Amino acid sequence: MLSSVDVGNILHALQGEIENDVTVIGGGTAGFIAATAAARTGARTTLVEYMPFLSGTHGGAGLVLSATGFYHTYLGDRRFKYKDQLELLVKGLAFEYWNLLVRAGAAHGRENEAPLNIINDNELTKVVTERMVLESGADIWFMSQFVDALVDDGKLKGALVTRGGGLWLIKTKVLIDASGDGIAAAQAGASYELGRKSDGRPQPGSMFFEVGEVDIKKTLDHLKEHPDHFAETHYGFPPSADYLLKRLREGVPIRFKVSCGYDEAKAKGELPIAPGEKAVPPSLGSIYLHWKSGRVVPYMVSLNMDMVYGLDPADRDQYDEMLVETKRFVLQILGHYRRYVPGFEDCWLSRFPPMLGLREGRRIVGEYMLTEQDAEHGAMFEDAVGRCGAFIDVHGEEVGTMLEHREVGGEHGWFHIPYRSLIPKDVDNMLVAGKLVSADHVVHGSTRNMVICMMTGHAAGTAAALASRDNVSPRSLDVERLQQVLRQQDAII
Ligand SMILES: Cc1cc2nc3c(=O)[nH]c(=O)nc-3n(C[C@H](O)[C@H](O)[C@H](O)COP(=O)(O)OP(=O)(O)OC[C@H]3O[C@@H](n4cnc5c(N)ncnc54)[C@H](O)[C@@H]3O)c2cc1C
Repeated sequence: MLSSVDVGNILHALQGEIENDVTVIGGGTAGFIAATAAARTGARTTLVEYMPFLSGTHGGAGLVLSATGFYHTYLGDRRFKYKDQLELLVKGLAFEYWNLLVRAGAAHGRENEAPLNIINDNELTKVVTERMVLESGADIWFMSQFVDALVDDGKLKGALVTRGGGLWLIKTKVLIDASGDGIAAAQAGASYELGRKSDGRPQPGSMFFEVGEVDIKKTLDHLKEHPDHFAETHYGFPPSADYLLKRLREGVPIRFKVSCGYDEAKAKGELPIAPGEKAVPPSLGSIYLHWKSGRVVPYMVSLNMDMVYGLDPADRDQYDEMLVETKRFVLQILGHYRRYVPGFEDCWLSRFPPMLGLREGRRIVGEYMLTEQDAEHGAMFEDAVGRCGAFIDVHGEEVGTMLEHREVGGEHGWFHIPYRSLIPKDVDNMLVAGKLVSADHVVHGSTRNMVICMMTGHAAGTAAALASRDNVSPRSLDVERLQQVLRQQDAII
């Protein structure tokens, strides 16, 4: 953290300085929506993104699957039972984005019918997010990294950002931290938590890699003969190879898990070893078919499995080591699939994702921290900015430990996200959006879902613009007015 006096001393080292109303750090899942919302609500807005593209984890970490949270997530057999009675819980900019993705051929589904799971085209996603932000009037600073916060007496005044090799000062009225790991809030002095309560260990992450020249029909034909080679997914076992083949013929990007070769590889001592951990059953990996330019691609898949355990994103040595180790591990997994999974014999690695996918980083301590009980009982708040019905999805913090999956929302199937969860307790003129909003480790398993990140991005962007227009701290904003404007922007509260 730097004060105005400190910055005064390094003015000579600055390459440039700008002044605006709202600055958003991170153009990922929540940040590109936050910048769009702020600019549309009239704020001069700058979006600072470290990568040369927007979309963050949902486009850059190789997630071809996406977006849980438009509806309440039913688990087990309930997802079949209630599938025709789903009530839309999130609209606003998240829903608008969904429609833009479909129109661009970048997602599987139909316009105006939000899906249970978006399967998106990572590359087109980058273009759709970029256009949405630029059309709102916000500026994007690509390949620019937030490095420090300018704070006087607990009030945030600006951000120091590297851009093109030089150091820039952005003087801003409100800063939104949508960096995923809370770097801006932490640098500004906000308190935060990391990981589970007992020892601070976070959920695992993943390098969600892409594989080409797969013969998926051959894999499914094999599974038809050997149904015991299906592995259990998050939602139980897939219906059957016949059903998956039918869905494939209908052009649906299916997903499933296989356990082919596990026993043999184990007996030979050939199981892949996850970074820093023990041998991993390759059946933990999910196979996702790709969706490219409006159609399913049956010879290209992405493979996702937990592999980054216990990483504290603030520990950069550990982070660097993980970037090396995950690549080693991916090659081991690929070798296993080539050797043991029919249809994968000739496959090759087409891409490591540009970003490591981390499920959990710092969670900022806000004016209100959502608790497990809030999620379970469907808490409602007067200062609500949106609804969350996404299931609690906490992946086992160690190799081999179970996922925790739970429905949320009590009777009505959702809980409110209060505006106070977007306000860091210790810093003024700052809001947070995305997976770092103020929630405990368990509720974070629900709020980290993409649609919910987009919804908090929408609320934070609109709130920041209103606060900057009125020259008040976001903490003092008239929440009823914020809710009114959000509803005018088609948000559901
Ligand atoms: C492997 C994996 C699988 C998942 N599966 C699902 C799923 O099936 N369904 C679902 O709904 N959710 C899923 N999630 C969760 C979801 O993808 C994330 O929680 C969500 O995308 C996070 O959004 P965010 O905006 O908070 O962060 P991000 O999307 O990560 O965005 C943060 C952005 O900030 C930028 N940034 C970081 N530091 C700086 C800096 N100092 N300066 C400038 N820019 C910076 C980053 O480059 C990035 O673009 C998954 C996550 C992972 C990792």
